[in-house]
Amino acid sequence: MECQLKITLTEQRKEKPASDKLGFGVHFTDHMFTMDYTEGKGWHDPQIVPYSPVTLDPAAMVFHYGQTVFEGLKAYRNKDDRAWLFRPDQNFKRLNRSLSRLSMPLIDEDFMLEALKQLVATEKEWIPTESGTSLYIRPFVIATEACFGVRASHTYKLIILLSPVGAYYAGGMKPVKIYVENHYVRAVRGGTGNAKTAGNYAGSLKAQEEAKEKGYEQVLWLDGIENKYVEEVGSMNVFFKVNGEVWVPELNGSILEGITRDSTIHMLKDWGVPVVEKRISMEDLYEAYTKGELEEAFGTGTAAVISPIGEMSWNEHKMVINNAQIGELTSKLYDQMTGIQYGLVEDKFGWSVEVTKA
Ligand SMILES: *Cc1c(COP(=O)(O)O)cnc(C)c1O
Repeated sequence: MECQLKITLTEQRKEKPASDKLGFGVHFTDHMFTMDYTEGKGWHDPQIVPYSPVTLDPAAMVFHYGQTVFEGLKAYRNKDDRAWLFRPDQNFKRLNRSLSRLSMPLIDEDFMLEALKQLVATEKEWIPTESGTSLYIRPFVIATEACFGVRASHTYKLIILLSPVGAYYAGGMKPVKIYVENHYVRAVRGGTGNAKTAGNYAGSLKAQEEAKEKGYEQVLWLDGIENKYVEEVGSMNVFFKVNGEVWVPELNGSILEGITRDSTIHMLKDWGVPVVEKRISMEDLYEAYTKGELEEAFGTGTAAVISPIGEMSWNEHKMVINNAQIGELTSKLYDQMTGIQYGLVEDKFGWSVEVTKA
């Protein structure tokens, strides 16, 4: 698998969008990374090629049974023109965990990190520099074998796409209104909730749409068995500050293990803030709320980094958190995390990886 990375550069560079017109995931860079897998041969033909459509047989297994996984991370460029990745090793580790869950072949994490650095270095000019902007990185793997048989595919393709994205909080950070979902579930014990796979997302759209119709921005997912315990918020992990402690749902197999979640826990512990990973019921949260102890709530994920929660609606109960204002700890976490990501504050954890050409 340790074959040379072949690079074919495009002859037609695209025009780069203005930094205030980036949006999220709608513009793509000039090149992409691709690599193929064939049973018996392993991963082969890693290459950087001009961005282009892929041709697949319509019977390709990914279209029928959803054998596919993905990752999401960002490259950041600062005023000194240096470019950084945030804990990219963790994304390839997680990609392998997702691949394993979906019965797909594992990748060589070290090789993939080198290939990613090479790709991002090739596209460095595409990393926007305005505050809050970044280059979103989307590695994904699809099952390509043409066959209707219900089994794991014998061939796969891994692709990495790059997309310059605008500031998530273009109009300033604003606390969101959350609908606690008591009908639909995102994941169940023993299912695929802890794998980053398309089906989890497809199955969550309905709840998201219905919450929007009711006037909420996101849903809070509860466990799929008792419908009692908090799991995630939208496609982010969730944190609550209760009476000076920070509560976070413990990993249970149906919660996706976010890298921002892990980084947040490390940072809080480093600041001496007590963090408790445990099963959190809505009843416990509501009780804390009625006692005036539910001080802050926020989601964590690569896209938004930290997203404050201003209101939660659970059955007939409405909980307004911190007067629907951004909490002090929430805002400190956002500043520190993004500071490290842009290489602007000391990276005492060694999380940032500089993008340099091999
Ligand atoms: C990707 C993802 C997250 C956040 O993970 P990060 O590594 O922090 O970006 C949280 N929940 C779900 C369901 C996800 O797919």
